[in-house]
Parts: sequence; structure tokens; C-alpha cells
Amino acid sequence: MPPPTEELVRKRTSEDFVFGRVIGEGSFSTVYLAKDVHTNREFAIKVLEKRHIIREKKTEYVTREKKILLTLGSSCKYFVHLYFTFQDTDRLYFVLTYAKNGELLQQINKDTCFSVECTKYYSAELVLALEYLNAKGIVHRDLKPENVLFDENWHILITDFGSAKMLGEDKSSDEENQRRRKYSFVGTAQYVSPEILNDAESTCASDLWALGCIIYQMLTGQMPFRGASEYLIFQKILKLDYEFPQSFDKNAEDLVKKLLVIAPSGRLGATDQVPYKSIQEHKFFRDIKWDNLGPPPKFFNKSDSEPEMVIIPDDLEPGLDEEKASRLHFEMLSPQTPPRKKSEPNRKITDLNQEEIEQRLELQKSNVYHELVEGNLILKQGIIEKKKGIFPKRRMLLLTFGPHLYYVDPVTMILKGEIPWSEDLRTEAKNFKKFFVHTPNRIYYLEDPDGYALEWCKAIDEVKAHYYPSLQDS
Ligand code: ATP
Repeated sequence: MPPPTEELVRKRTSEDFVFGRVIGEGSFSTVYLAKDVHTNREFAIKVLEKRHIIREKKTEYVTREKKILLTLGSSCKYFVHLYFTFQDTDRLYFVLTYAKNGELLQQINKDTCFSVECTKYYSAELVLALEYLNAKGIVHRDLKPENVLFDENWHILITDFGSAKMLGEDKSSDEENQRRRKYSFVGTAQYVSPEILNDAESTCASDLWALGCIIYQMLTGQMPFRGASEYLIFQKILKLDYEFPQSFDKNAEDLVKKLLVIAPSGRLGATDQVPYKSIQEHKFFRDIKWDNLGPPPKFFNKSDSEPEMVIIPDDLEPGLDEEKASRLHFEMLSPQTPPRKKSEPNRKITDLNQEEIEQRLELQKSNVYHELVEGNLILKQGIIEKKKGIFPKRRMLLLTFGPHLYYVDPVTMILKGEIPWSEDLRTEAKNFKKFFVHTPNRIYYLEDPDGYALEWCKAIDEVKAHYYPSLQDS
């Protein structure tokens, strides 16, 4: 609901908000959960240090994000909304919709892959969101599961418009932006379209390419184009070198093939008179009612997907000074200080009954790593960097019942080894990205490039507690 009119005209300051907890960190920003002291409404506030932005020459990125978020407005529910912006001497503040249920990527990793029903629903939400972007003449250009968040009702909220472009905007600034993207490519390369790689003009069809990649990933848990380096991934993208697992839904396969087309104009929907009618009419979406998608599939109402109830304590003072910012950071990094939750205990990764295990094993058959885990149920998987010697190795880490911690070379798909389990195995989180697994004979130095080191440690600890319960009592 928009705030009352007089609230809209009054310029906000950080004193209008109580900052409760750090909920995420970007390369140039820290995102806090915050509460408006006047309305008690929760927001995510993205705070950017001016010094840092200027030093890293990211002013254009920040200005672009603000401009596009303002252009998007609030009439489409599938985007994070920018409510207020303000600044003080040191920082810029973006007050955004709070996406309570985290990222699509987290959810895919948690469930290893989605059912066809679930994939269809979220692909349909993405199609409607892309239709809106198309109507506004905006190309996102960095659409990927990390940038698709979930609101409290499990609807998507697309975020991160720092790389976006307005069609028809000043060409020179866009060229500059493209040049930077090409030569200083940061983040995940797997979703970038061939035309962006070739430095050709990006259009709304670039986001249709990303849509194809995301549909593939929802159904398999994997990105279609994988490689040990960005160079190898780019080569695969340009050669359209990817494969479908046997069990991939045939209608979805047809849709993905029609979206992952090298020529932007050849992609399904790219030349629609009414965007994206041809995608909506594709057989994969046969039973979708486009004027009302209805509630998300039941799948998401399961308790293991319930959000962590983060509560902002009532005794906190409004505002964000240096001391409070450091304290909130410290709380986030310290595993001894879990986020505040409601009294309901959080479900553990191992809390699955036989029926759920069988259902998930069935779904797992379409996971490309299924063949390598000896029939064990994958509880968590994700790309990590494994440090040994000078060069880190990129590996898919697979935590399964058994218990096992397999690691696989994601390029050759060869099982490289296993971290041996024993009751002495122990995890140690160093920060958001780095974590160690201690075993009696070796310490495994691991790094999660996506920043889920704490989640890895928690998952491994829960599996340990499941297999060695007596250690918990002592
Ligand atoms: P980078 O700048 O490195 O590309 P980013 O774009 O993800 O990273 P931010 O937009 O600052 O950086 O977001 C940092 C993290 O904060 C995100 O990964 C996400 O988990 C969380 N986050 C961002 N916006 C929201 C939001 N509106 N609601 C909830 N969490 C959010």
C-alpha cells in the first residue's frame, strides 16, 4: 500500500527507520531489514557508502538503478519497489520492498530442482514481469536466479537494475556501460546472452535468453552453460553447447530451445506484435490462466520453506550511525548469534519423512549429479571453490544422506572425491564466503562464491547431529 500523501512529500532520513539486521551484502552495498517508526512497516534498506561508490567508479551504476526503479513504479507486483531515497554526508539509502523469502537461487539449491508445476508457475510470473519491462522499454540484462527474490506470499520480486538499460536512452552512455560489462565482467556469466558477449546491441530479447536459462535451471538445478572459467562458459554460449537430461519435460525442452536461440530476433516472443503472446500460447503453459495465475503451488507452503521470522526488537533506537552499522555486521557474521526468530523451531535439513524422501529421490533423477551420489538423497548442493595448493578448484559440493560430502568437477562431471565423515568432522565459518571442514587428517578450505558459507555449515552440522545424536547430548 502506498504511504499517505503527506508522507510522500516529506523527505525521509535514517532517523525515520529502526535498522534491525543485515540481510544481505552486495559488492557496493549493505542491505538492512528496517522498520518505519511511523507506520511499523518493514522495508529492506540498501545502504551505499559514497566513498566506496566514488572510489570504485560505480556512480553510473547507482544512478541507473535508481532511475530504472523509479520508472518501474509500483503498478507491477513482480518487481521490488523503491519507496524512498535519501542521503546523509557519508551514505545513500534506497528504501525497498522487503523480499521476506530470499532468492530463487536459494530455493532451487535447497530443493535441488523444482517440479514441472512449480517451474511452470514461476516461469509464468517471469513472463508477465518481462512483458511489463518490455512495455516500459527496459531491458534488465542481468536476469538470474540471484536477482529474483520472493515476497512474503512467495511471488517473485525482480531486483538489481544496476545493469539495466532503457531502450532509446542516450546511446553513448549505454555503449560505455556495455563496454564495461564486457571487459570487467563481474558476477555470474552463465546467463549472459550471445549478443551482449558480442558487444551487439541488447534488446528485450536478451532477457528472453536469460528466461530460457532460468527455466532450464529450475528443472535441473543446473545452469545450461557450465565451465571451469568464464572464457569456457562464453565459448559454450556462443556455440549453443548445452544438453538436456533425459528426464527433462518435453514441452519445457521445446520452450527452452525456442528461447535459447543465438539470433535475438529468432527467440520466441521477440517479434510478437503483442508481447509475449507466442510464449503464453506455448504448449508448456497450456493450463496457465494468464489473467490470474492464482496462488503459488502448494509446494511452497511446506514448513521447511517458511521464512525465518526475523523480528526487529522494540528497544532499538532509530537511525544508523557508525557504531550501530558495525554491531549489525558483527551480529551477521557471528554464528553464535543466530537471527532472531519466533518461538517455532526451524525445520532441519534432515527432517524428512519416508514419503518426502521418496518424492525427492524421484525428482532427483533429473538432476545431472544423481548418477554420482550412489542413490543417496542430495540434501544440499552448490558450486564452491576448493583450495588446495595455489589454485582453487571449482567443484560441485553435494551433501547427502549416508552421510556423504561428495565433490564433483562440474565441467568433466567426474567425481573427484569425498570429504570423509566421522564424528570428529567439524565445520568452521570464517565469513559469508569462506568456511572450513575439519577432519582428523585434513582441513578442507572451501569458499562459496555466492556467500552461503553459513548455510553450508548449518546444513553439515544438522547432518552430523542426525547421524551422531549422542554428541549433541554430551
Ligand atoms: P552485487 O552488487 O555484488 O551484484 P547485489 O546486486 O546482490 O550484489 P544488493 O542489491 O545490494 O547487491 O543485495 C545484496 C543482497 O541483499 C542480495 O543478495 C539479497 O540477498 C539481499 N537483498 C537485496 N535486496 C533485497 C530486498 N529488497 N529484500 C530482501 N533482501 C534483499
